[in-house]
Amino acid sequence: MNVHAHPKKLVKGATGDWEVIIGMEIHAQVTSKAKLFSGASTEFGGEPNSHVSLVDAAMPGMLPVINQECIRQAVRSGLGLKAQINLKSVFDRKNYFYPDLPQGYQISQYKSPIVGEGEVIVDMPDGESIRVGIERLHLEQDAGKSLHDQHPTMSFVDLNRSGVALMEIVSKPDLRSADEAKAYVTKLRTILRYLGTCDGNMEQGSLRADVNVSVRRPGEPLGTRCEIKNVNSIRFIGQAIEYEARRQIGILEDGGAIHQETRLFDPGKGETRSMRSKEEAHDYRYFPDPDLLPLELTPKFVEDVKAHLPELPDEKKARFVRDYGLSSYDAGVLVAERETADFFEAVAKGRDGKMAANWVINELFGRLNKEGKDVNASPMSAAQLGAIVDLIGEETISGKIAKDLFEIVWSEGGDPRAIVEARGMKQVTDVGAIETMIDEIIARNSDKAEQAKAKPTLIGWFVGQVMKASGGKANPQAVNELLKAKLGI
Ligand code: MN
Repeated sequence: MNVHAHPKKLVKGATGDWEVIIGMEIHAQVTSKAKLFSGASTEFGGEPNSHVSLVDAAMPGMLPVINQECIRQAVRSGLGLKAQINLKSVFDRKNYFYPDLPQGYQISQYKSPIVGEGEVIVDMPDGESIRVGIERLHLEQDAGKSLHDQHPTMSFVDLNRSGVALMEIVSKPDLRSADEAKAYVTKLRTILRYLGTCDGNMEQGSLRADVNVSVRRPGEPLGTRCEIKNVNSIRFIGQAIEYEARRQIGILEDGGAIHQETRLFDPGKGETRSMRSKEEAHDYRYFPDPDLLPLELTPKFVEDVKAHLPELPDEKKARFVRDYGLSSYDAGVLVAERETADFFEAVAKGRDGKMAANWVINELFGRLNKEGKDVNASPMSAAQLGAIVDLIGEETISGKIAKDLFEIVWSEGGDPRAIVEARGMKQVTDVGAIETMIDEIIARNSDKAEQAKAKPTLIGWFVGQVMKASGGKANPQAVNELLKAKLGI
């Protein structure tokens, strides 16, 4: 499925085409009440240093104890990425100094991660599917946070995040454009949210991306990459890649060379800038953490976790296409969030799936977007929207009246069927009543009626007049058929 050097994915430089190669390392905070090696709370937004155990503060003699829930969540995530689960993995110390890292090292996994190779299938808006290889997923501790804006001459440190469990999910360099990278992160976040293993909240830092970017001439070996650290929004990921690819192409076309380095993205200026020259793995002096035994899982544990996984987006999408007759695109839109998919199914159950999808995607989502609400905050329930779909399906109301009814139910609430009764919104399918209206309109516009015989598209004007005369309640199909007969076209 992976297309290499596809012409539409190439970037034009001054001296020819370039291919952009992108790989991602995503840090995803594990959804868990307690930290990876301590019982301290992971809750966001606490008073600084209020969620810090002696382990997280690295007091002498404290020992880490693995949190089984974090292990379970990592395994669930691995299975959701169709990845190899390693029954034996090892925690290592990654040594470096930083003021917000009281231990002087981060407990991470180096040579033996808990999860090995997997994949994510990403559907692009143009219908293409790309397969992005997953290199590994490992567990590690988050660091604390230095605060430089609290005092004129001092920096403070907040250790609330110190020791919180992260999953570092490393992709292969399979992405070829900013759009693909954005779609990949979106899809990965959807999968983690379905699983409930990471809330995916990028504003709160629950999901951060390190983006590796390099460029090359099509068909040539990989170029030198630069890593853009800690990008915290999907839009910024796109902007950072576009900028960085252009920057590298510019240097190479001027005869320069790219030096491997770590860069930061400045959202205000829309550019990346150098942070430090890239360190190599050996700089960190990794070694197995002597306080922790290798982590061993039983096949039964993994099987049990597997047996309790929820239906994931790809499977749900395939089922929506199969069972409700939806297009792949519509099914993809509906499964992007689990709540949206559930809402759709509640509307579609026992009804015309395509019609239900149309009303959910076009009317409901359109309205929710306009008001900046998500489906959980929808003023209209699935039962109410389902009733509207029923009324259309049984031809009690026309599609046009249904839109009016939608507005009423949206703003006033109530039972759609009762509203239709009380406000006389029923569709007129009584042929006699429609005929009377048509006769009157033709009589008043005999010149147009003559013209229509030569120019049948004029029927549209007559349809409009009849619909207007009926207050939008005439059955459009009946109007069309009767008009054709009366006008002799
Ligand atoms: Mn990491």
